[in-house]
Amino acid sequence: MEAFAYAAPRTVAEAVQLLADAPGSARPLAGGTDLIPQLQEGRRTVGLVVDIKGIPQLNEIHWEPQTGLTIGAAVPCVRVARSPLVQTHYPALHTASTMIGSIMIQHRASLGGNLANAAPSADGVPPLIIHGAEAIIAGPAGTRRIPVEQVPTGPGQTSLAPGEFLVALHLPVPPPHTASHYMRFTPRNEMDIAVVGVGAAVTLDPVTGSCLGVRIALGAVAPTPVRAASAEAYLTGKPLTDQHLRRAAELAVEAARPISDVRASAEYRRHLVQVLTRRTLEAVRSRLTG
Ligand SMILES: Cc1cc2nc3c(=O)[nH]c(=O)nc-3n(C[C@H](O)[C@H](O)[C@H](O)COP(=O)(O)OP(=O)(O)OC[C@H]3O[C@@H](n4cnc5c(N)ncnc54)[C@H](O)[C@@H]3O)c2cc1C
Repeated sequence: MEAFAYAAPRTVAEAVQLLADAPGSARPLAGGTDLIPQLQEGRRTVGLVVDIKGIPQLNEIHWEPQTGLTIGAAVPCVRVARSPLVQTHYPALHTASTMIGSIMIQHRASLGGNLANAAPSADGVPPLIIHGAEAIIAGPAGTRRIPVEQVPTGPGQTSLAPGEFLVALHLPVPPPHTASHYMRFTPRNEMDIAVVGVGAAVTLDPVTGSCLGVRIALGAVAPTPVRAASAEAYLTGKPLTDQHLRRAAELAVEAARPISDVRASAEYRRHLVQVLTRRTLEAVRSRLTG
């Protein structure tokens, strides 16, 4: 590994200053489960590593009943998974947080790092997207908020400007009668990255039983996680019958632009999108009706 300088700021303002003073050559470090291997293998070089774990704001989980849940960007996945608020209101995110690596990895890995690393297969990102999460970003020009789906722009690339970093992720309160689920396919049960991941959140009209809101996000089938817009539009206004779930799963494939690689062919990934979308929606239906 090449030598680099290291700084451990205690405030967001200090971190912004450090990152802005070395644009291009400085990188934030949260859990380091992506960054350290990348540095060791020479896939990235940095002049300065800015360790953001010591900033209190980045380590908080905060619930406001009116507005929702704010998860600090450096909170390790194990705390996200164990949060009763996440388990109750954002079950897809709970599930994904228990899937990232192993329990040892989850004690280090953060959702902020998962998002900023911008792997198309990142398990935390489809659940954040279907829960309507926003990224809270600090930088030299102040603080801004954008939908999570606008953060990754391609494999390993984000829309964060030089000097900017993620402070937190904000998830709005889900509407009543909403349930969600996340599912992925990996050849091994753990310590493997998703060949395909699917997250879905559905809000039901309790009177008619039809879908008031549907969000479906796919991972590992395009340069960034993507929404399955045709499937969402098809299901909206319809009840969650087997026939409608099957049709929505077929339509979800339209959003996938997979590649063939050593892990799976594009054709197999398209097949998996259909199977996993149907199973994820079935799991959501069970939560809503069970
Ligand atoms: C053995 C192993 C298994 C894994 N399994 C999975 C898996 O199953 N699913 C999965 O999705 N991932 C997996 N990963 C990848 C990794 O653990 C996750 O992506 C993790 O969430 C990264 O978080 P981190 O805090 O460790 O990020 P870091 O390594 O600290 O950072 C990752 C990248 O994001 C940047 N960054 C970090 N925090 C911020 C911030 N707040 N603002 C802006 N940029 C930031 C860093 O500069 C770096 O480029 C695995 C990794 C390992 C080593």
